[in-house]
Amino acid sequence: MYNFNGKIALVTGAGRGIGRATAKKLAQNGAKIAAVDRTRSDLETLKEEIEKDGGECFTWICDISDVQQINVMVEKVHAWGRERIDFLVNSAGVGICNFLDNVDEEDWDRTLDINLKGTFFVCKTVAPIMRAQQFGKIVNIASIAGVTGGPTLFPYNASKAGLINITHSLAIALGPFGINVNAVNPGLVWTPMWKVTDKWIQDNIPPFKDEPYVTKKAYDASIQASVALKRPTNPEHIANVVAFLVSEEASEVTGQHINVDGGIEYH
Ligand code: NAP
Repeated sequence: MYNFNGKIALVTGAGRGIGRATAKKLAQNGAKIAAVDRTRSDLETLKEEIEKDGGECFTWICDISDVQQINVMVEKVHAWGRERIDFLVNSAGVGICNFLDNVDEEDWDRTLDINLKGTFFVCKTVAPIMRAQQFGKIVNIASIAGVTGGPTLFPYNASKAGLINITHSLAIALGPFGINVNAVNPGLVWTPMWKVTDKWIQDNIPPFKDEPYVTKKAYDASIQASVALKRPTNPEHIANVVAFLVSEEASEVTGQHINVDGGIEYH
């Protein structure tokens, strides 16, 4: 559908969920993928899948909350990409559920260090490469939680609101160099991120009290309660919009945050 032949795409959080679907979508359209994550086994299976379909994939382990690791990672990807990085998709992120009274400093720091500080420093480190090329497309995976917020994810909501704001600022700073910067806000997407909340849901959501393996039920109930289309959004739905945003079809779209949620948020 798109012609990304020869383009180098750096995707963080590429091993799982939305990042993985995005890496595969960009590869299917011809891009060479630099897949970055913290878990080696996820990256190895992704590489195998991309190469089986005739694509190219370079993998690198990096914890994006550590700026030194980001510097090394971007240097390695730049060298592998023969001194180019055309697309950057920042999907690495964490979400920790807690009501207001239970939020602790560790949850706050960990969430902000990854979702906001880490993502910003990946953008900052790639920016000079894109400026030198006078070309680049950056897509940050934020969240509808960064638009409205909610009572169970304070650090997460703040990190994603900050990421939306940084996306706008980067679009203004990098626009003169032919670089588009946008955010995609997923809604309720069934990925491994949801599966880590099981215990918290059992302990805190009355209809699911003490029920084991309840997260999928709570997820399905949320879809029926809050999604206009009454169906789940998949990682591939998010990847489709990312592919559009890095394509020339979206050349005049920059500084935007686009809700891809089946109809939950309307601003
Ligand atoms: P996921 O399946 O958990 O994938 C996130 C990936 O990011 C994992 O592979 C994780 O690896 C990696 N990661 C986490 N911390 C990292 C770090 N410090 N350095 C490098 N990689 C790191 O989650 P997902 O649902 O695909 O989420 C992708 C993005 O979408 C996130 O930014 C999330 O906030 C956003 N989002 C998701 C939803 C949803 O409903 N799923 C909704 C709105 C927004 P390890 O865990 O192995 O470290």
